Amino acid sequence: MKCSNCQKEADFRYRVLEVQTLHVRSLKGDNKVQALGKFQDYGICRSCAERRLKDTLEFSGEKKKHCFLSIVIIIMGCLILLNMGSEGLIGFTGLFFILGGILIEYGTVSEWLRTRKELMALSFEKRLERAAWLELLASAPKKSVDSDLSYIPVDRETVNMKKGDFMVMYDLIPEIVEKAWSVINADYLNQR
Ligand SMILES: [Zn+2]
Repeated sequence: MKCSNCQKEADFRYRVLEVQTLHVRSLKGDNKVQALGKFQDYGICRSCAERRLKDTLEFSGEKKKHCFLSIVIIIMGCLILLNMGSEGLIGFTGLFFILGGILIEYGTVSEWLRTRKELMALSFEKRLERAAWLELLASAPKKSVDSDLSYIPVDRETVNMKKGDFMVMYDLIPEIVEKAWSVINADYLNQR
């Protein structure tokens, strides 16, 4: 099997079940409709996993971009307040920019620290495995027509989960939990 990212021979192999999620907006609010997709096999090579691990542990790439963006937004907010006065709607817009910038900054940094802490708690091999999974999620398709795609790994960890945890972990609606659970368990047994 080839690496889904660079086509080299894969070192980490994953069998996953696709979940299609459609967000339906109506007067009653947002609603989620989900359907199970196909089983797919993906691979990730060791060098792609190592690169992903390095990117995730360092404050770089996307995170730097978000950080830069939030600083620009905060500066714009300050400029609006300084140049146009703090009264009325304009003052409100300035404050809105500053607050928005701070929230983006906070979100980016706290998520990075959380993921970093999770990864550092694992042994090196486990950490690399987790990074390979993150790389797979990044390189696998995220959309199918109008639906968002997400993936559930078919492995021992998944079949050993409690059904409630399984539902929360993969953000499944109650209507498809049973079906997802049974096809994954059946497929897992088939693979062995
Ligand atoms: Zn690769």
